[in-house]
Amino acid sequence: MESRAVVIGPGYYADTDISSPKEIRNSARKYVEVLGSDPKWGEDRVRSVPPESLSSINEVMTIVQQAADEATEGGTLLVIYVGHGARWRDVPGDQVHFAVESSRRRAPWTWLSSWYVYRAIRKSRATLKVLIADCCCSNMLPDLGDGDRDGSLPGVLGEEDEGTCVLAAAANNPEVSSEGCTQLPDEDLRECTPFSGHLLSILRNGTKNHDDELTIGMIRDALRRDLARCGTHDKAKIRLNDSREGAPLFTNRKIEGQRDDPPSPDSVEEWAVALKTPSGIRSIDQLLRDPQKTGKVVAMLYGDPDSQDIALLVNERANKSFQDSGQFAIYWVEACGTVPE
Ligand SMILES: [Zn+2]
Repeated sequence: MESRAVVIGPGYYADTDISSPKEIRNSARKYVEVLGSDPKWGEDRVRSVPPESLSSINEVMTIVQQAADEATEGGTLLVIYVGHGARWRDVPGDQVHFAVESSRRRAPWTWLSSWYVYRAIRKSRATLKVLIADCCCSNMLPDLGDGDRDGSLPGVLGEEDEGTCVLAAAANNPEVSSEGCTQLPDEDLRECTPFSGHLLSILRNGTKNHDDELTIGMIRDALRRDLARCGTHDKAKIRLNDSREGAPLFTNRKIEGQRDDPPSPDSVEEWAVALKTPSGIRSIDQLLRDPQKTGKVVAMLYGDPDSQDIALLVNERANKSFQDSGQFAIYWVEACGTVPE
């Protein structure tokens, strides 16, 4: 079980039409530092594309491919891109493109198509594959789906295409700001882009959540909460293709005394919140004692597009659990019409 992370942060652009804000380089450096000190990752598993390779699409992709090949079943492949993103409607595939340091504003062929990055990620044997994209147009990255969905790539992504997730800085507006957020508690992170600064702050300082690991869903919720609190940022977008939001990605570095008590959910609303965390999932058997409540929780979770994967997980467990037709009927009255049969 091997995990690999690659950080790509091209910050010095040869084309003077492309800005070179210091926040890009700073963010890339901080990702390496924060992941390197995370017990779940560590220096050996984290690589950044070295400065001399950041001008070359070939060299960037060689490093990404190497990490994708080295990550194995049970492990995680994480690719982080911080830089400029662009999209041209008249180039083949209409995909988001990532800048390298030799990219030129008006020359699409000098940019790295996200298609290649995504292809390397999806073909990796890693069980969980995550792309974090802090760049303009990252809100359009979800188009890189599994080939079966409308608007996604044709079926060329191979068989090992499960468990992918995209976390993008841009949610609504394709433009993202690079100017650091002055409201971040850690001074050095104010010199990062706002999205990466906030994300790094969560990874470095943890969340008050009871759990020892930060899952994709916990990171998304914390990031949205923090970005909204500042009041000036776009909300981040997360797209779970087929990975579960309960998948752990980082260590929760909040010291134990400063965390909340373990959740003891009771109401439908409390369960819907708790099931997004590892400790909530662990206590799912307790929920399954009450078929009616389970059905209501599933309906509530499925109503939120971000939580549908959790709803499906609970539904799966409910189908196994409620073997008695009477119990299943009580469950299904509440859940039917929400989750697919
Ligand atoms: Zn902020």
